[in-house]
Amino acid sequence: MKHTAEAIVVGAGIMGCAIAHALAERGMTDVLVLDKDAIGRGSTADAAGGIRQQFSTETNIRIAQYSVRVWETYQERFGIDIGLRQQGYLFLLTNPAEEAVFRANLALQQSLGVPSRWVAPPDIAAINPGVVLDDVVGGTFCPEDGWCDTYSATVGFAQAARKLGVQFQEETPVEGITIERGRVVGVRTSTGNVASPLVIICAGPYTRLVGAMAGVELPVDPYRRMSFITEPFEGLPQSLPMTIEFASGLYFHPESHGFLFGMANREEPIGFSKVVDEEWMIATVERLVERAPAFENARVLRGWAGSYEVTPDANPLVGWVGEPEGLAVAAGFSGHGFMQGPAIGACMAELILDGCVSMVDIAPFRPSRFAEGELAQEHNVI
Ligand SMILES: Cc1cc2nc3c(=O)[nH]c(=O)nc-3n(C[C@H](O)[C@H](O)[C@H](O)COP(=O)(O)OP(=O)(O)OC[C@H]3O[C@@H](n4cnc5c(N)ncnc54)[C@H](O)[C@@H]3O)c2cc1C
Repeated sequence: MKHTAEAIVVGAGIMGCAIAHALAERGMTDVLVLDKDAIGRGSTADAAGGIRQQFSTETNIRIAQYSVRVWETYQERFGIDIGLRQQGYLFLLTNPAEEAVFRANLALQQSLGVPSRWVAPPDIAAINPGVVLDDVVGGTFCPEDGWCDTYSATVGFAQAARKLGVQFQEETPVEGITIERGRVVGVRTSTGNVASPLVIICAGPYTRLVGAMAGVELPVDPYRRMSFITEPFEGLPQSLPMTIEFASGLYFHPESHGFLFGMANREEPIGFSKVVDEEWMIATVERLVERAPAFENARVLRGWAGSYEVTPDANPLVGWVGEPEGLAVAAGFSGHGFMQGPAIGACMAELILDGCVSMVDIAPFRPSRFAEGELAQEHNVI
């Protein structure tokens, strides 16, 4: 392993890999990415792969727009098929109070150029004929949204970064961050120390623990979330969009000739458990069958649990930590981080190499906002 680097990235999930690649592409190639496990095996591996532009804040919408353009051109740029399916995201609203909020969010999205639109129940029936609409007041749909394979996308960034000179060291937990006179000077790992004036924390759900190594409080907490995949079954076409019942957090989309589905358990306590909760699986399946009765014919092939990396306002910490100097963070994406990887990589490269970010105003995501009491709440969280 290297003993010095111009920059150290802690964590090789989508964020660590996209940032390392963006830095190297812009000329900073002496970068070392350390992961306690393996590339793309953290939360990124457990994600449903969803990619959407239907957010409620300008920063998230712009980040999503930039990222979608990268996902659309990924194969030609990186030579890897990430299985992108732009079949749209369909939000179903059952609570009349949500209509005004979603319509306001739509107006913001449309003003920024996102082709999302309001859909009344008959429009929804045409887009997804498989859902029960008795209690649905309407919804929103964006045909450019979709999903892809998170693992190949992450490995693609890592491979491209490696070709430019970035080094990846797997199975190497960072155990300490060394600080001298208020500045970061390196990290301590299980296999030795590495000196660097710049450390970027991309540790996903473990970010609070890594921040504590530098005496910094980074408010990111892990919450278990589960996804399940069905065997192929009759009754629902593979052309359906990602469909989300917003009130419950139930979602499903076609995957591997069957369907992938899940539902947010809002009572889930903080914790790193990755054991599938069978009671919640049953509750999810019951809700799914009520919303889309064709799932009665489906057999669950497998399920898994992963960690959402949640902050108090469901938005990430992106930027310099402040003190110590030389410490930056890009973490806490609160369940919508995979899709944002490309833009966050480019933003962090601008921040580090240019001293400021011009492509998107990421000031709302500054890590200091919690201490300042200026949260940047995202409403469209699943
Ligand atoms: C069930 C589920 C469904 C989801 N669905 C979606 C979706 O549809 N769309 C979407 O955009 N997002 C989704 N997400 C969220 C998405 O997975 C995350 O926002 C995103 O993957 C975060 O990426 P990351 O690189 O920040 O974190 P991670 O992928 O967790 O990477 C962090 C890395 O840091 C490493 N690490 C931690 N501590 C240390 C240490 N001390 N030393 C060295 N390495 C360390 C870990 O091993 C890990 O590899 C979902 C998440 C779950 C759990």
